[in-house]
Amino acid sequence: MTTEPPVDAVSDAFAVLSDETRLDVIRVLGDAGGTGSFDALPFSELRDRVGVDDSGRFSYHLDRLVGRFVERTDRGYRLRVPGIQVYQAIQAGVYADHEDIGPLETDIPCPEECGADCVCRYEDFRFHLECADCEAFRVRYPVDPHSFGDDLPADLLRAADRRLKRDTFSMELGFCPYCAGPVDIEYRGQRRRLREPTEAGNPVASRRTCRRCHWFIDFRTSVVALIKPAVAGEFAAAGVDTFAVPQWSGAYEWEETVLSEDPLRVELTMTVEGVTRIVAFDGELDVLAVQHPDEPVENDILRGRQS
Ligand SMILES: [Zn+2]
Ligand SMILES: [Zn+2]
Repeated sequence: MTTEPPVDAVSDAFAVLSDETRLDVIRVLGDAGGTGSFDALPFSELRDRVGVDDSGRFSYHLDRLVGRFVERTDRGYRLRVPGIQVYQAIQAGVYADHEDIGPLETDIPCPEECGADCVCRYEDFRFHLECADCEAFRVRYPVDPHSFGDDLPADLLRAADRRLKRDTFSMELGFCPYCAGPVDIEYRGQRRRLREPTEAGNPVASRRTCRRCHWFIDFRTSVVALIKPAVAGEFAAAGVDTFAVPQWSGAYEWEETVLSEDPLRVELTMTVEGVTRIVAFDGELDVLAVQHPDEPVENDILRGRQS
């Protein structure tokens, strides 16, 4: 009876990485970057920097990396793209341990207007933001441990906002920020922890899910609106940079109304830094119209009667 040799490329890659010397090689080669490229290091210099005296032993470990993670060039050894990505994950702290932080007080008001402010904390590789009292508001999203500094909570809030913006933008462009897989959009309707239904209709939230790795983000429509070119452009013309506005409520005001269920038409009134615009969305969260509040609402467009 014969046993099949392990041919799986993924398990082979992880087997190659499960060695401290090899991870040190990746770290040293990564650190050698910074001049516009990932520099190549000659064998002897690389061995010196990794700190291995035994040339034969070092050569063995280096050879295991060559091919998938490292390439041999005329000027020495250099990281290939998969090697760079391992280095980046190490630098981001993806595989590091971290201590829980918080809860820390912030000056972000509870969006339910219960009178309390929000607290933030860092736990289980995730940023959390919630009301200190009524717990009605919650942002929870992964942030890498090395992506924020010691000035807390400011650094943590800034890191979470950046990560959320980046990922929202990627999902909005239709591809997953982690595996580049295609993204599906689904309206989930009224959501707990959003606002109570208004007289005019219910606030809605949408979920975007990666078909390949199943990563998902739930968005309020207002968060998507901030990065839509048609919306951002209107605000920019009035002197407001919507890209600089934090993703969580408190930084801006919004009121969302479902005008029609089929086809889905959503009207969003947003006020950012004193500037108000009314945005109409369809079921794909495409912008149908952006209007000044003094202009009459174009009901035909908003209600979807127009083809
Ligand atoms: Zn509250
Ligand atoms: Zn994905």
